[in-house]
Amino acid sequence: MLMSRLSIMKQRTFVMMFIALFGMSDVRAQQKYDLLLKGGHVIDPRNKISAVRDVAIANGKVVAVAASINPGEAVKVVDASGYYVTPGLIDIHVHVFAGTGERGSYAGDNSVYPDGFTFRAGVTTVADAGCAGWRNFEDFKQRVIDRARTRVLAFINIVGNGMRGGTFEQDLTDMEAKPTADMALRYPGLIIGVKTAHYAGPEWAPVERAVEAGTAAKIPVMVDFGTNRPERPLAELVTRKLRPGDIYTHVYSGLRNEQLESGEVNPALWEARKRGVIFDVGHGGGSFLWRIAVPAMKAGFVPDSISTDLHIGSMNAGMKDMLNVMDKFLAMGMSLDDVILRSTWNPAREIKHEELGHLSPGAEADLVVLKLEKGNFGFVDMYGARLRGTQKLTCELTLRAGKVVYDLNGITRPDWDKLPRDYRQTGDTRWDAVTPARPARSPR
Ligand SMILES: [Zn+2]
Repeated sequence: MLMSRLSIMKQRTFVMMFIALFGMSDVRAQQKYDLLLKGGHVIDPRNKISAVRDVAIANGKVVAVAASINPGEAVKVVDASGYYVTPGLIDIHVHVFAGTGERGSYAGDNSVYPDGFTFRAGVTTVADAGCAGWRNFEDFKQRVIDRARTRVLAFINIVGNGMRGGTFEQDLTDMEAKPTADMALRYPGLIIGVKTAHYAGPEWAPVERAVEAGTAAKIPVMVDFGTNRPERPLAELVTRKLRPGDIYTHVYSGLRNEQLESGEVNPALWEARKRGVIFDVGHGGGSFLWRIAVPAMKAGFVPDSISTDLHIGSMNAGMKDMLNVMDKFLAMGMSLDDVILRSTWNPAREIKHEELGHLSPGAEADLVVLKLEKGNFGFVDMYGARLRGTQKLTCELTLRAGKVVYDLNGITRPDWDKLPRDYRQTGDTRWDAVTPARPARSPR
């Protein structure tokens, strides 16, 4: 006992001498990790991990995922025990072209600014689903994409004017494959797909031109199939018109014969899935019904990707946010691992960003720490019908590029009464993007 106390004292003395000799910054330089999430249950479907693991981060990247990583090697250690640690969520259907001042338009007032809705729900990457076309994409880019802390990618609308509303979106003369593909090719990796949406007419032209643009730019097409028209049936769309890798969104809306009169899933959807057509949730304000989703899930027709269709009409309705949409799939019996797969790695692959959606060493450290609450919860569909559930995900902590951007309960923060009486900023720029302390200045 005495010996061990002595040796601890010796160690302390040594550390203090070390600090005195080399200075604090040099001691810190010994720490090879900026942030260590310790003891959380990691779900990383791409790497087939669902187990308690430590995750170490340095210089904005994941550097190690292992059963035990030495906390002494990290600047900041976060106790993640009791939580789930997953890749940052990827929501491939949102509307975020806000700020133009245009009323009644998704290239305006119907959109929301991404950062107000993403990090608090564990989302680190979104794809705008066609608010802008080739005529206004660059305005969207400078107005929102370039200024957001969220990673914002975009499907470009086949309509040159994008989702500016009624007359614009019905104008076949403004649906041109060439300028759409050219704009997509000008921003590879940023424009990740072509969108067609809201079309009410009987023609196939919007879909055909979107596919033509997608083929030229080598990117997928996402379809919101608009008004249901007998001249262009769903079966023909998904089994003939779309290519493998193209995305059918709003799959549980029931608005376009996704479900037959008998209550069965339209067999064309199964056939299309075999061909490689992708099925996405796109919940929105008017595209998700329990009476469609529950029987489809029971039949095994699960979504490839879970997405919100975030906009002003969905944000406070049944949709709410990404986690609430994920909760709905938990409530229908999908496992948490499966829900995470369809909110991270699957959408990353769909938009051809395979560097995202997983925690492989070297990957950008976009991560979320989730809590799975148990209790009595209710989940509401587009017609206001409720399904009850017993599980609810909440976002405790979100990291974007290795830095804390959202921390619900302050699990990365020190207790105020353990700090000096005149404490100021407590963070550190190496791991903190919320309240990072400024570098120490020399005294005036
Ligand atoms: Zn949408």
